[in-house]
Amino acid sequence: MKLYNSLSRQVEEIVPIEAGKIGMYTCGPTVYSTATIGNFRTYTLSDVLARALRYVGYEVKLVMNLTDVGHLTGDNEGDSSQGEDRLEKASKKEGKTAWDIAKGYSDEFMAQMKMMNIEMPTVVCKATDHIPEQIVMVQQLESNGLTYKISDGIYFDTLAFEAKGFTYGELSNLDEMKKGARLEPNPEKKNPRDFALWKFSPSDGTKRQMEWESPWGVGFPGWHIECSAMSTKYLGDQFDIHAGGEDLRSTHHPNEIAQAEGATGKKPFVKTWVHGAFLLVDGGRMGKSLGNAYTIADIAAKGIDPLALRYFYLTGHYRKQINFTWDSLASAATALTKLRELYQNTKVDGVERVSLSEEKMEKIEAFQNKFTAAIENDLNMSEALAVLWEMAKSNIPNYDKVDMMMQFDRVLGLQLDKPISKDGAAIPENIEKLIEQRENMRKMRNYDEADKIRQDIEKLGYHLEDKGGRTRAIKN
Ligand code: AMP
Ligand code: ZN
Repeated sequence: MKLYNSLSRQVEEIVPIEAGKIGMYTCGPTVYSTATIGNFRTYTLSDVLARALRYVGYEVKLVMNLTDVGHLTGDNEGDSSQGEDRLEKASKKEGKTAWDIAKGYSDEFMAQMKMMNIEMPTVVCKATDHIPEQIVMVQQLESNGLTYKISDGIYFDTLAFEAKGFTYGELSNLDEMKKGARLEPNPEKKNPRDFALWKFSPSDGTKRQMEWESPWGVGFPGWHIECSAMSTKYLGDQFDIHAGGEDLRSTHHPNEIAQAEGATGKKPFVKTWVHGAFLLVDGGRMGKSLGNAYTIADIAAKGIDPLALRYFYLTGHYRKQINFTWDSLASAATALTKLRELYQNTKVDGVERVSLSEEKMEKIEAFQNKFTAAIENDLNMSEALAVLWEMAKSNIPNYDKVDMMMQFDRVLGLQLDKPISKDGAAIPENIEKLIEQRENMRKMRNYDEADKIRQDIEKLGYHLEDKGGRTRAIKN
């Protein structure tokens, strides 16, 4: 498997630290608002990457965090010492506790992951469940002489880090760094690049909802420390792959590296850094204030299967920005429906498996090899999709066709076997369940019961079409 490594700025062969195994971490959401279709491009990338690694035979341990404290409004602009805690801000706005805000948006996020057919990571970990681990890491940095205290918190000393022979900011993109440098840094910091590890609760009498005791007084962790503390806890001091959106490349990820390497003394913290490019909407930035920060719920509300969005993501390379429009989503939905039709109309029932001619065997193998070559080539998913289409339309035996579609779908995650209605809309879950029950009755030759279920389905506004050994529902 070859991937572009933002650290070496080259496409490189993945060589796991432990043979056959991959340890991978991906920066998860800050749970203070509903995740957007932009955020989901990044989470879909880590899902596709983990699926692809498993497909080619690795055992993958994937860890994802949920940021439920300490991410300040100024953090993404390059200075992690300024601004308001996003969770506390949302709490005021919505009139709920910060804890309820975190719980509500975490639950919503998990439900959306399911709608996007994103496999559950091996470990999902919350920052607030790992405060002691974060404190221990700051203590390690302190005893290694890499911290200093100013009026609002304990900070990481990037110059002291470099004096020890490490390099700060190897990952950074220069343009992004310049953008950050234009912001007014906290004048108490020794160096504008230094960042907060532990922040003190305000001394002006305002009370934070989320705060903890620490050796430095009551406060809360800086945004970056959770990822270093939790990734090393679950994956060890050094691991294989770290993924995230391209906006994290210039500040958050260099800070993760500095903290982990500064605390453990081991370099490199992560071998391969994978960054996904942003999703644009109508050719521009997506933003709540612009009214185009669409969510999975907006897509479902239009009767479009959220997996059409997954298909849309797969049509572009992860290192290039893609432009979302409702038209492009509609095209993706049409393509997905066609693929599902191809799968579902491929007749397999009652067909005896025949021994293959040499020519067909070669064709089947060639499709498999081409598909694997595409995903191993820095996740060339549009090429992988093209191989799927070519194979699905080819003249290889039906059995092999549907088998291979399901095989490829282990990486693509498009649920090609999901029942579809004639107009291409997804079939509601209750109807799907009834279709399955009817199938089971028919298999047991209980035709009376099967017929009753058919009538129930009709009462719900769908009729069934049995074709090619498969059943599909059609909206009346
Ligand atoms: P946040 O909740 O803002 O911390 O963002 C969560 C993740 O989504 C990060 O990995 C970001 O890089 C990513 N992200 C934010 N906006 C976009 C976008 N428009 N396209 C792709 N990824 C994004
Ligand atoms: Zn992170």
